[in-house]
Amino acid sequence: MAYTGSCACGAVTATIAADAPVAVRQCWCRQCQQVAGGAATNNAIFPTDSVVFTGELATHSYVAASGNTLTHSYCPRCGTPVMAQTSARPHFRTMRLGFLTPGHGLAPNAAIWTSDAPPWAAIDPALDQFAAQPPAPPPPTS
Ligand SMILES: [Zn+2]
Ligand SMILES: [Zn+2]
Repeated sequence: MAYTGSCACGAVTATIAADAPVAVRQCWCRQCQQVAGGAATNNAIFPTDSVVFTGELATHSYVAASGNTLTHSYCPRCGTPVMAQTSARPHFRTMRLGFLTPGHGLAPNAAIWTSDAPPWAAIDPALDQFAAQPPAPPPPTS
């Protein structure tokens, strides 16, 4: 199965040749709150070599508390968040669920950085919850 995605204006698209993401997570860290307008980002993690983009991405990088450099990518025309990457795991791309074409059937199974969540946040108790960064998914085998 392949997934596809598009920003709001259509300038950036992607195809993802993967059967399934390695993880789907909701992130409540402060930087994600800035990207997502106050709440969490929702992300599906795919192997880097499964993702092909068309169009130009704008990026913003910062050094996280972990010491790793995080890079957020977005459409320079419409601002749609597209993905994030960490220097610690270049073999993964963290794709924003809102960028993916509806009908993908993906939903978060974990909420991370819940210690940064605002007091009004409604976090589904059915999700695995991590106060900060959880263990990394294993690297892709292919
Ligand atoms: Zn766009
Ligand atoms: Zn985050």
